[in-house]
Amino acid sequence: MASHNLLLLPGDGIGPEVMGEVKKVADFLGKAGVATFETETDLVGGAAYDAHGVAITDAAMKTAMEADAVLFGAVGGPKWAKVPYEARPEAGLLRLRKDMQLFANLRPAICFPALADASSLKREIIEGLDIMIVRELTGGVYFGEPKEIVTLENGEKRAVDTQVYTTHEIERITRVAFDLAKVRRNKVTSSEKHNVMRSGVLWKEVATRIGATEYPDVELDHHLADSLAMQLVRWPKQYDVIVCDNLFGDILSDIAAMLTGSLGMLPSASLGAPDAKTGKRKALYEPVHGSAPDIAGQGLANPIAMISSFGMALRYSFGLGQAADLVDQAIADVLASGARTRDIAEKGANAVSTTDMGDAIVAALKRRA
Ligand code: NAD
Repeated sequence: MASHNLLLLPGDGIGPEVMGEVKKVADFLGKAGVATFETETDLVGGAAYDAHGVAITDAAMKTAMEADAVLFGAVGGPKWAKVPYEARPEAGLLRLRKDMQLFANLRPAICFPALADASSLKREIIEGLDIMIVRELTGGVYFGEPKEIVTLENGEKRAVDTQVYTTHEIERITRVAFDLAKVRRNKVTSSEKHNVMRSGVLWKEVATRIGATEYPDVELDHHLADSLAMQLVRWPKQYDVIVCDNLFGDILSDIAAMLTGSLGMLPSASLGAPDAKTGKRKALYEPVHGSAPDIAGQGLANPIAMISSFGMALRYSFGLGQAADLVDQAIADVLASGARTRDIAEKGANAVSTTDMGDAIVAALKRRA
């Protein structure tokens, strides 16, 4: 049975609570003979600051670099509002992304039938939705230089951010999107604004070339980012994989996320380049939500986003697609049975606790395994 090294970084707030439920799922898969997971746990964010004065230690970073995958809970909270900027909780996540060179952010937006009525859109628009947004994570306008605010001679200020992309950066992110499409519904929509941005012109050109030369069997179309934003709320099911830059991806993935309901349901993956020798990508999996200090420690957190993030690790880091399907099905079963944590429960309806939800998912796994 294959064994995989997993670094668990629960972090702050509800992070440790939702990570606890992932451990149950991993233990079950081990006992069921699917795969064993050698897990190590370390501190990140405010918890690391309290213990070591930094948002992540060099030792934890080293473990992360050597792990087959990192599972990250969430960081931050009011307790650390005044810590030095370089040691703020988010710095731990930023260092992980930077040192592991995680350039591809994968955000699935899946609507479980049982939750279709929780969406702000009509059931027929959202039911059965299953799209994937691939966002470039390490380039573009958030990082391009110059990035500054200068004072002009007349005393006025001038702020500059720079949108920069190279051929190589666009090639590698579009390849991630095409590879995903091949194991999904074979369709990529590349999004930029080539009508007003030079980086958009290059983006479209490179995506077109990669599609034509390396993935001729995958359908490729191009949507301007503003029009795509409208289409996402009009008829999102027309899409399969959407690929876009850092800025547009930030916005479009949040729109797509909210189509499906609660933050407590949304997983994500961040992937690096394949290793030249092993072909393995560095990878970090995390729920989209934060540390939710308002509900931390009360057993109210929904662990599904964290458990689904582990499901993505099974699929994208460990080649355990069947086990990932099993986890997805178990979550769907539990939702279909009516179990809801407070964030996805109807007003006034009874809600289950974090641990109850985790236990129910493990029980559903047992029934299906
Ligand atoms: P948040 O995602 O923590 O919470 C927003 C709202 O959603 C809250 O009402 C919260 O109770 C609810 N919520 C979030 N996750 C939930 C879950 N699993 N189950 C049930 N309800 C859930 O965002 P915020 O309140 O803006 O930020 C809180 C802290 O988290 C801040 O310190 C922020 O910087 C940090 N944060 C961290 C990350 C990360 O670690 N990647 C991401 C976003 C925010």
